[in-house]
Amino acid sequence: MELKKGIPVSPGIVIREAFALDTEDLRIPQRFIEKSQVEDEVERYEQAVVLAQKSLDKDIESLGTKIKIHTQILEIHRDLVADPVLRKEIIAAIRDKHYTAEHAVSRVLNRYIKKFAAMDSPIIAERVHDLFDIEKLILSTLLGKKIETLNTLEREVVVIAHNLTPAQTAKLDPRWVHGFATDVGGKTSHTAIMARALGIPAVVGLDDISTTVVGGDLVIIDGFRGIVLINPDERTVKEYQSKVEETARVTRRLRKQASLPAETIDGHALQVHANIELPQEVHSAVELGAEGIGLFRTEFIHLQTPRNNEEVHFQHYRNVLRELGNRPLTLRTLDLGGDKDDGLGLVEENPFLGCRSIRWCLEHPDVFRAQLRAIYRVSALGQIRVMLPMISSIPELDRTLMLIEEVKEELREENIPFDDDVPVGVMIEVPSLAVIADLVAPRVSFFSVGTNDLVQYTLAVDRGNERVAELYDPVHPAILRLLVRVLEVGDEHGIRVSVCGEMASEPIYLPLLIGLGLRELSVSPQLIPEVKQVIRLVRDFDVQELAHRCLDMSDGFAITRELRRWAHDHLPDLPRRW
Ligand code: PEP
Ligand code: MG
Repeated sequence: MELKKGIPVSPGIVIREAFALDTEDLRIPQRFIEKSQVEDEVERYEQAVVLAQKSLDKDIESLGTKIKIHTQILEIHRDLVADPVLRKEIIAAIRDKHYTAEHAVSRVLNRYIKKFAAMDSPIIAERVHDLFDIEKLILSTLLGKKIETLNTLEREVVVIAHNLTPAQTAKLDPRWVHGFATDVGGKTSHTAIMARALGIPAVVGLDDISTTVVGGDLVIIDGFRGIVLINPDERTVKEYQSKVEETARVTRRLRKQASLPAETIDGHALQVHANIELPQEVHSAVELGAEGIGLFRTEFIHLQTPRNNEEVHFQHYRNVLRELGNRPLTLRTLDLGGDKDDGLGLVEENPFLGCRSIRWCLEHPDVFRAQLRAIYRVSALGQIRVMLPMISSIPELDRTLMLIEEVKEELREENIPFDDDVPVGVMIEVPSLAVIADLVAPRVSFFSVGTNDLVQYTLAVDRGNERVAELYDPVHPAILRLLVRVLEVGDEHGIRVSVCGEMASEPIYLPLLIGLGLRELSVSPQLIPEVKQVIRLVRDFDVQELAHRCLDMSDGFAITRELRRWAHDHLPDLPRRW
């Protein structure tokens, strides 16, 4: 048995066989054939295409309409497998160059992959992945092997990888993928956030897990403690099985109480909203007790259909609104860049400090306008709030607000109904905005503190870099002072302040945030029952005292120790995450 320690990013425990990503080796045994074998080889290729199509048809049928994005990807693959241009070139390579079918497929597809990868178009960039996938599929059919990819998994596994991008994580099918562990990553990286959205245990920052584990190893992922056990002995498996059962018991109990209001012992009500990444999460968010959506990371829609697609955004927002009933929906405008590909395949030196988020949107007004049009069109159908990410200055905010006015004017001219009074707020996630919060407040309807980025930018610690994870400290006195400032300014100007960063879902930080005066927060749906339970276990008076004590301290590590002690004494019976 081998034990690896990393960063726990999504709670829970899972014991499953490993699926090692990216390690399949497709060896092509022979490259050339005799002239006399050419027609048989063409026939072999044609049959492989038919088989590949049948297997895709089967996958599409078994997925049905349950996970639409997966079905769409497979449909694209089915069309590509039989694409007449590709087919003609592959057959020509067999006939003219006497390549084996495998070699011809590989040569032709790789030529297109290289050509497409060099192009500066988001739609074509997506096709590169599709070509990789169909190459694997046709080759595996020709070689007589069933090669599994994340899209074709049909057994319960945990995924072991060097890295998973947020877009890859968004495509994981939770029916088969029950957890993951990666070499790199940090607690608030978007990959980690996606794991929480899917409700699967995950550990990142394990350094060399991808080269230690081979496919088929038995693996335990402990997402509470950040531990991965490889090929554990029988006793350890039994021990962990009973922990799995205990966690399931606690989760069931908490979920039963999820619809109760989030009120402190002494009667202060808090609003608990959900952060979602994908429209299909909204149903479970409501079931788990969300009083609204406090953060919809709409960029994942763009990543799945990277076009200026007003209609796609509109449809998704409308569906989410329908599920929400009368609850409010906070649509955050696109936050691309950083650790989320912008769909254009552009790579920057320091992406978190580069053309990310609102900066990207202002540089791509067509994409931004399309999204704003979708948002305002849907505003006629329900309670919408617009949230602007990563604003760092007043001119940037004013420019964005002006663009919003232009979009509204456009809709007016087109006689398209919309709500003229949609609240527009900002995320406070760049320290400069917290410092000038008093200048921002008169221009907006609400603040939502994005602690994930606020911590990264204030402390100069990359949120996704495991090497500096120890320095990523949400209770550093500088962060607490910024939080106090934002809450005070919100109070003075009578505007709502929420926290939508991951800090708000940590049972050790939550009492401190309530003590600082926070009354609204937004967290991953799966964590709502636990967050509500923590709120119900605190007394406002006690946590105010706790907050005062913490504000008097100069060392974040000491503050964390104090919060742990407090949680230990006051929050019994929760899964121990601290
Ligand atoms: C944040 O920065 O805290 C936040 C909620 O936004 P994101 O994690 O998507 O950057
Ligand atoms: Mg952010």
